[in-house]
Amino acid sequence: MINSERLVQTFLDLVVIDSPSGQEEAISRELARRCAALGAQVERDEHWNVIARWRATNGATDAVLLSAHMDTVGQDTGIKPQIRDGVIYSDGTTILGGDDKSGVAAILEVVASLREDGRPHPPLEAVISVSEEVGLRGARLLDKGRLTARRGYVLDAGGPIGGIVTSAPSQDSLEAWVHGRKAHAGAEPEKGINAIRVAAEAVLAMPLGRIDFETTANIGIIQGGEATNIVPDKVYLKGEARSRDDLKLAAQTAAMTAALEGAAERNDAHVELKVKRMYTTYKLAEDHPVVATAVAAARRLGYTPTIKASGGGTDANIYAEHGIYCAILSTGMAAVHTANEHIAIADMVASARLLEEIVANC
Ligand SMILES: [Zn+2]
Repeated sequence: MINSERLVQTFLDLVVIDSPSGQEEAISRELARRCAALGAQVERDEHWNVIARWRATNGATDAVLLSAHMDTVGQDTGIKPQIRDGVIYSDGTTILGGDDKSGVAAILEVVASLREDGRPHPPLEAVISVSEEVGLRGARLLDKGRLTARRGYVLDAGGPIGGIVTSAPSQDSLEAWVHGRKAHAGAEPEKGINAIRVAAEAVLAMPLGRIDFETTANIGIIQGGEATNIVPDKVYLKGEARSRDDLKLAAQTAAMTAALEGAAERNDAHVELKVKRMYTTYKLAEDHPVVATAVAAARRLGYTPTIKASGGGTDANIYAEHGIYCAILSTGMAAVHTANEHIAIADMVASARLLEEIVANC
């Protein structure tokens, strides 16, 4: 049985181990140790990703992937979790790190519970990834050839327990360097080409924000200029576009690059562009076994199964690119990436119960 005290303790123990993306060594060691203590065969790759395997106890041969990420967003360290009225918060000065240590804790608790009860389960392959928050880097660098599972569950979503995310967008990242011409702003401004003005014209001409129900775009970084008395000759912009429809994404990215090229041309400036596909969309059908098993398990436990589409990528995007299809489950995490991040203990327990019910019926 899911042991709520043990689950909460595991979560609290993990949260106080600092693990901003790129600084996962300590937590990676601890997770490998915990998985081994739970009887897993554990591997760690050179990036500190942890892969843990448990043999089947039900005679099944097809492994189920269980995945969560060990890194936390941004640079916050020294997290001090506090429990108030059954909800775990940080002290209000940092994130909590429930994204995604609630997912990690749920996986560890489910394995502990299944073993304790001798409840039959298929082979389990857990991947606890590093650097998810910086472009799914850990999952990308992981050698997917090491994985045998072809289906599974990623514990990395918020919202009510029973939420099942079955699709996610593709994302393009866009970088642009606008080159104008420098001149003295007071003496001979007519000799200059103001790169800030060109960039501004381009951004204004771009469709941005919510484009439609499955397409979004943003320019998030703009840098340039040296002094008020210099007509600036260089501006750097960075943005992104996402869509769950690759044709729409191609059109959106093209519109953004065309806006930059058009503004450059009108102003005799020059633009250098770099577009990179960060991850690729996927969608699981409602009758896909991964989805159907989760829906049935949620119903049995009295949670309302809700199929959802995500506006963001997760490690599941990377797994899907390699033929491993995963649904993303809610862990109960809320207000993630903020100092108000929190998680209700009841949700954490419910999430583990649901995951256990799913795994035992895979
Ligand atoms: Zn996350």
